[in-house]
Amino acid sequence: MLRSLYSKFLLGYLVLGIIGYLAVMAYSRTAVWDDLVQDEASSLYREATTLSSYLSDTYETTGRPDEARARLRDASRVLETRLWLLNPEGAILYDDGGDYSGRTIDSFDPIDWSGATYRMDTLYGAFTDEQLSVCLPVVNRSALYGYLILFRSRSALLPRYNSAVDHLYLVFFIIYGLSFLLFVIFHRCVYRPLKKILSVAGEYSSGNMEQRIDVSSHDEIGRLAQTLNLTAQKVEDLDTYQRTFIANVSHDFRSPLTNIHGYVEAMRDGTIPPENSGKYLNIVQSETDRLMKLTQNLLNLNAAGSRGTILDRTTFDINSVIKTICESFEVACTEKELAFDLLFDAKRRPVYADFDKIQQVLYNLIDNAIKFSPNRETIRIETYEDGEKVFISVSDHGIGIAREDLPKIWERFYKTDASRGRDKKGSGLGLAIVKEIIEAHGEQIDCVSTEGAGSSFTFTLPAEAPEA
Ligand code: ADP
Repeated sequence: MLRSLYSKFLLGYLVLGIIGYLAVMAYSRTAVWDDLVQDEASSLYREATTLSSYLSDTYETTGRPDEARARLRDASRVLETRLWLLNPEGAILYDDGGDYSGRTIDSFDPIDWSGATYRMDTLYGAFTDEQLSVCLPVVNRSALYGYLILFRSRSALLPRYNSAVDHLYLVFFIIYGLSFLLFVIFHRCVYRPLKKILSVAGEYSSGNMEQRIDVSSHDEIGRLAQTLNLTAQKVEDLDTYQRTFIANVSHDFRSPLTNIHGYVEAMRDGTIPPENSGKYLNIVQSETDRLMKLTQNLLNLNAAGSRGTILDRTTFDINSVIKTICESFEVACTEKELAFDLLFDAKRRPVYADFDKIQQVLYNLIDNAIKFSPNRETIRIETYEDGEKVFISVSDHGIGIAREDLPKIWERFYKTDASRGRDKKGSGLGLAIVKEIIEAHGEQIDCVSTEGAGSSFTFTLPAEAPEA
């Protein structure tokens, strides 16, 4: 039934109202009434004290009860209470209402007031409704002249009681009304943005990641909306990336496959005579090599990029790895008359890394340096230690990379326009693999390049294995 936050909050608000109302009612019935009676009783008591000392003075000075009565009459006009003056035996000497003068209350006992300062009863059955009364002796030195009872009917207290309760209800309703503001705040700051988030999240779940949540607040809800927007953006980017990736892979596979298919078909149907087939078989072989290299690169990239890749780290001499790789490029270097300039700060430079993967990094970087260098140039490979790191750099004097291309060269399948003419076979995966491997080691790689002047790639490796 209460499925929405809104109805829950509304119900909570109503329940709070009802509980508050009942609490005010219960409080006003007891506490307000008790306070009022106490207050009235104390004021009666004060008046009674003044009157009783006044009366005892009169008795003492005049010795005449008549005189005392006359004075009481004056006093009762001023006070809005009724009063009785009783002699010690309980005979009512004076009643300002007049009805009870001369009667005797047989059961009168001043002890009745000794437990509390006031009483609320029918005053020995003299009245049908309850009276709030206080009783004080009229004494002087050792002589007891009588008792003075001041009383006020219960119903006379009701107007004050009702007005106090009315005020209490008024305050309650004002506070309850103001607390409705909370409801408005909840509606604006929580419910409305949450509804927006919910509707957009529904779109996301049905695969539409284009929508964004329009919530501008900076509180938790605003941050939730921002996080969702960011997640949607990432999912969208990933989606676009996957599409381009598949498009690139298919494209790179299609051209060699088309070539192979074309040549094999031409050889089978005799378009290429058997005496020429050797030349075309070489082309087919080179195309299959290209496909194999591409497949291997994709596999490497996948392995390097997958999280939690376990690196098989050992300590090995990076200088000797560099020398071996340089030797493997001898044929390519001879063709272009390129020379290697190896600059090592020490004969041996041990590093703690995955041997095979670092070999691949160096292979890719040196391969690029050779590809993009003009003939008769030098490629400089340098290693040096700085602190706990070993720095390895591969620099060439080749075509260089334009400043705007520099951040993109690490992306999969990215090739600069300048390089396309020189390197038709490259797939643009080499540097992506290099970066993945270096980052898997927790290290960094950077490239500094000037278009037309050359490029320098530098990466770091830990100099030694961490102490166990
Ligand atoms: P590939 O595997 O095709 O060589 P890479 O990922 O290694 O691709 O390189 C991506 C692009 O970066 C290259 O196509 C080229 O445009 C540029 N690049 C890489 N190394 C160099 C270099 N040493 N000099 C100039 N451009 C380079």
